[in-house]
Amino acid sequence: MAKGGTKIYCPNCKEFSVCKAMSPTALGEPKAQRWYRTDHQDISWFRRARACVSCKKTFLSAELDEKLLEELIQLREKLAKKHQVIAQRIRSVRPWLVRTETVPLDYAKEFVRKSAWWHTHSSGNPVRAPNHAKRIYESHHGWVIDFGANTFLVGKAIERCNNEINRYIDAAAQGDLPGIDDLNSKLKMHIRGAVANNDGYEYEGYYPLEGQDMMFGAQSIDVNDGVEYVLQKSGVSELVSST
Ligand SMILES: [Zn+2]
Repeated sequence: MAKGGTKIYCPNCKEFSVCKAMSPTALGEPKAQRWYRTDHQDISWFRRARACVSCKKTFLSAELDEKLLEELIQLREKLAKKHQVIAQRIRSVRPWLVRTETVPLDYAKEFVRKSAWWHTHSSGNPVRAPNHAKRIYESHHGWVIDFGANTFLVGKAIERCNNEINRYIDAAAQGDLPGIDDLNSKLKMHIRGAVANNDGYEYEGYYPLEGQDMMFGAQSIDVNDGVEYVLQKSGVSELVSST
């Protein structure tokens, strides 16, 4: 059978996927397909009901002049800038909104000492860069360290790893022992998730890896080193070796 059909962006799959076109009435909408906003008559579009063949999600799509998307993006960026200023003001007058750091500074420093690398050493090989630990400072994220335009949120990374390790210990105390590999990969994700951009806003996704390194220019944090350190510090190996 032919996998026919036009691929359009499915908001549920978050990728281009074959989506069947249907009459808007299939979604309980009026039959009409040509629409415009009475308050903004240049915003006129052709409406279709769509059903994603992969995930079955149904939604309405609008075909319109692409220039309107440019306008939308520009407006979003403007709004974001405005909101960033307001967000800073909100946080500066309400310290209780800001994360209270629970991780001892020595712990954060040791994490960085054990996982930071410098990649442009004259030897041609990456070398450990323990001195970065001296640059840790406290922001509204807790302990952080700047690497160029990015900030590694070392306090958050450790706290989230520790929460994950606690769940693991709880499970073990119930007689269950989830695989250590599974724990390892979750810890890696917590470390990769703890990075903020230039403006201090945490990225929504996970920082990319090159090998085992989150590269920040010529500097890096090796996520394997980080995981090894939090695991060693947690004493969880006693549970693993008891089986
Ligand atoms: Zn879909």
